[in-house]
Parts: sequence; structure tokens; C-alpha cells
Amino acid sequence: REKEIASLFQANELARNFFHSCLTKTDYGINARNYLAHRGITAEIAVKFRLGYAPAAWDKLSNALLKRNLKADILLKAGLAVHKNGGEGFYDRFRDRIIFPICNARGKVVGFGGRIMDQTQPKYLNSPETPIFNKRHILYGLDIAGEHIRSSGQAIVVEGYMDAITAHAHGMANVVASLGTAFTAEQAKPLLRYGAEIIFAYDSDAAGQNATLRALSIVRVLGAKVRVVKIPDGKDPDEFIRKHGIEEFRTLVKNAATLIDYQLQLALETIDHTTLEGKVAVVGKIVPVLADSNNAVEVNAYIIRLSQTLGVAESAIRSELRKYLTTT
Ligand code: ATP
Ligand code: MN
Ligand code: MN
Ligand code: MN
Repeated sequence: REKEIASLFQANELARNFFHSCLTKTDYGINARNYLAHRGITAEIAVKFRLGYAPAAWDKLSNALLKRNLKADILLKAGLAVHKNGGEGFYDRFRDRIIFPICNARGKVVGFGGRIMDQTQPKYLNSPETPIFNKRHILYGLDIAGEHIRSSGQAIVVEGYMDAITAHAHGMANVVASLGTAFTAEQAKPLLRYGAEIIFAYDSDAAGQNATLRALSIVRVLGAKVRVVKIPDGKDPDEFIRKHGIEEFRTLVKNAATLIDYQLQLALETIDHTTLEGKVAVVGKIVPVLADSNNAVEVNAYIIRLSQTLGVAESAIRSELRKYLTTT
């Protein structure tokens, strides 16, 4: 079993080097190089993140690894090869895709993400869960960002590979990606160990906003310091940084909303609070958030603000908060 784990790490490392050579050293890697250049990824950044290219073939990686004495069952277990449907044999999982090696905090390769270069679906294909790859535990880029998260006291969490890489490419080094999955308590742990404030900067589409809300409910119970960046006009951090520059992104981060602010803004935006039902609904949404705060000054300030915004007496909001606190 321990031997198998070692073999899986070895297979991944060899695969990473293979993909990286295909990107940087082959004639057929030209489309991939052009694709990355088109997205603003320099050769230097491609080396830093060990980006790769999986050739448009069924067995190039498998053959290369078999030649290095890796066994077929390890290729399959690592998720690098896939069983032929109903038949004997296997083929490479990643074909004609840009490859993002995914590392654990110590920089060992645990899996891969692969992006197609045209409109074909699925856009991203990831390694399956393996004995060494559990998506719920991995933050993309943590091996590179860890020391910067520690020294800055802040961890910026984005959704995608490209969001993290573009931020790093522009000199913002405390950024990690949660890889599109729901943010988990396991992913928060290393960030909390660094004593970092967690700042979510997810895509501003509906999926990203829902993911933000789910992430907030996860980290809230961990007692983490959390804030939220809302990226203007339907963009993700990669697009925003490339269009407006890193300084504007830094400003967004600096002005990131506190958890209560974010929930309050969201409630006021999504609920018609001109009606009585609306006012009740907004108070109902915010009271549980206020109840979580252990700062009386903060709670008081929000109650005053909510009272003014809604035109509801402070005493009514306070009484709702008391009711909530005694029933939970
Ligand atoms: P790009 O900028 O390359 O188009 P993105 O990173 O903006 O990609 P999103 O669609 O916003 O892509 O998704 C965010 C992240 O979610 C991706 O980086 C990837 O990690 C993950 N993801 C997206 N689609 C899939 C998929 N079909 N399967 C697995 N993971 C996915
Ligand atoms: Mn998205
Ligand atoms: Mn994107
Ligand atoms: Mn995106």
C-alpha cells in the first residue's frame, strides 16, 4: 500500500514532466503554446506552474510511462489512463488539452486538470479521485502561495486555475484556487493554520455567487476571518486583472466586504424591501448572520444601518435577534 502510494506519486511526476516537455519542446505543442500566449501566459509562468500539453493521441503518455517501467495498473489507478469500454487495454485520459498539474502543499503532484482549447465540452477534465488525490483537501497553488499567505496574513481564494495563475503572473502571490468545487472545511484548515484572513474572489456569475454563499457558511462556523470580493461586470479574476490591471484588483481586495456587509447587500439586492413582506424577509435573512457575530459594537452598528435602510424600528430588529438567539 505504501509502495503503491509512492508509485502513484512517481507516475504523476513523470506525467507532469512528459506533459511539460510536450508543451515546451515539441513541434506539435505549437497550438498549446499559442493558446497560452493568447491568454497572457508567458513561458516563464508556464514553467513556474509546470503547465503542460497532453498530445492529441491515445497512447503517447501511457507508452512513455510504460517505458519508464511503470505498471499499467498504476497508470489506471493514477487516473492517467482509462480502461477501454468493455474491452482489453486502456488509453490516455488527457488528450489534446492544456495540462495544469495539481500539487499538494508540499509541492508533490497529486492530480491534473486539463483544458480543451476550443468550445468542445467538457471544458475542463480533472483527474478522478485517487488514493493520493482528494479534491476536497486540495487548494490549487498552495505550494507556491503558502509562504506569501503566511507573510501577508491574507489568502485570496478564487475558483479557477487561470484566475490563480493570472494573479501570480501579475505579482499577487497569496492566491489559491478551490477548483470549482464547493469550498470545504479541509481546504480552510491550512489557511487558518497560517492565521490568514480568507478573502473569496469567486466569479461574479450566478454559479460563483452561490459558491460564495456556500463557502461563507462553511468558514463561518470555523471562526475564520472572512471577506468577499465582488468582481464588477460579470467577470472572473483572470478577465478582470487582464482588463483592468492588478492594482484595480488589489483595490477590490482592499475594499472587500465583510461577511455581514456581503449578506446585507445581497439581501437588499435580491429582495424587494419596499413592501412589508420584503422588510420582514430581509430582517429574517440578516438576523442569523448578526447572531453569529461575537462583536456587540458591530452588531449594534448593523442594526442601526438596517433600521435606517428598511425604515423599521431598531427595537423591532433587536427583538427579532433576541427571539432568534433564544430559539437556537
Ligand atoms: P477559463 O477561463 O479557462 O474558461 P475558468 O477557470 O474561468 O476557465 P469556470 O467555468 O469559471 O472556468 O470554472 C472554474 C473552475 O471550475 C475551473 O478552473 C475548473 O477548475 C473547474 N471546472 C469548470 N468546469 C469544469 C468541469 N467541467 N469539470 C471539472 N471542473 C471544472
Ligand atoms: Mn464561472
Ligand atoms: Mn475564466
Ligand atoms: Mn471563471
